[in-house]
Amino acid sequence: MPQPALPQLHPLLRTLTLGLVCLLAACNRAGDPVYRDQFFAFGTLIDLTFHGVDTPRAEQASRALEQTFRQMHSDWHAWQPGALQQANAGLAEHGQASVDPAMAALIQEANRLSTLSNGLFNPVIGRLVALWGFHNDEPPQGPPPAADRIRQLVEQVPASTDVRVDDGQIHSRNPAVRYDLGAFAKGYAIDRGIEQLKELGILHAIINAGGDLRAIGRHGNRPWRIGIRDPRKPGVLASIEPAGDESVFTSGDYERFYEHEGRRYHHIIDPRSGYPAGATVSATVIHPVAATADAAATALFVAGPDAWPAIARQMGVKYVMLVDREGRIHLNPAMQARLKFESEPEAIVMSEAL
Ligand code: AMP
Ligand code: MG
Repeated sequence: MPQPALPQLHPLLRTLTLGLVCLLAACNRAGDPVYRDQFFAFGTLIDLTFHGVDTPRAEQASRALEQTFRQMHSDWHAWQPGALQQANAGLAEHGQASVDPAMAALIQEANRLSTLSNGLFNPVIGRLVALWGFHNDEPPQGPPPAADRIRQLVEQVPASTDVRVDDGQIHSRNPAVRYDLGAFAKGYAIDRGIEQLKELGILHAIINAGGDLRAIGRHGNRPWRIGIRDPRKPGVLASIEPAGDESVFTSGDYERFYEHEGRRYHHIIDPRSGYPAGATVSATVIHPVAATADAAATALFVAGPDAWPAIARQMGVKYVMLVDREGRIHLNPAMQARLKFESEPEAIVMSEAL
């Protein structure tokens, strides 16, 4: 039975709630040498937790990370002035654009993961995302766009395989290609942030961006513990303990959505139909690399309860949990072995195909 929708919270409140849920077990207990800090980037609160780092060093690292994240956010935002917006303008006007090496690497990795996902994670559907209005920081209010405008964009089939990256240039043979890295840039940024922490000698840490995170090392003599949000009611569905260096990413229909005439329209678009993917309410992935986890969570959300194992295999993902529209939990045995459910799930669909 469909569950009631979560109320629309103010974005900041929503992010705070998510952050709290997902760090429930990483919180400082009295006497723990835990340092925590937060800053705002990528439209969300970035929550840092370091273990066993003295305060001056932790503060220095935190300020350095904040600077890096702010820079990456403005460089990689498709819809605010910056390098990616310029690249999109170049693609729109001339079918090509100059990119610096960091942007070229980012785009190449997004394209690679898109191909592995059979285009279900599609970083070049920027025009569709904008048509739906999910490119703004504030979620749109509806109504949904006209069907023929959606169809027009879908029929142009923008694909990452239309793009060639070489010699500081990107070229597109399809005029409909526009990058929107909303499903990927946060993960990629967290990987860069973790590299930076490791270079600074910080080896026990979590970088958590609104519930999506990468954890390295341990919380002292015990592992970190991460809560995965229940997609349909406040609180935690299950918890996991990341093993050494792992990322946990969830794509959910509750993150950005509006309701119109009794239907929910959310921000994860099926590139094949041009409409929000309808069969999944949340998809959670564990993977060492945050960028892969981010792209895969989006791709598997779109793939849905039947197709996800094949796409997960192609993307090299070993741990997946999907919650479908009926509240059933789909997972593979390796994922089940890592999850501790808050309460016994009513229906589990196990996939031996992964
Ligand atoms: P995520 O929460 O990581 O699943 O990312 C969702 C965001 O990625 C949306 O707000 C859009 O900006 C963008 N997006 C939506 N659908 C797709 C898709 N199928 N592939 C890639 N990016 C998408
Ligand atoms: Mg994603």
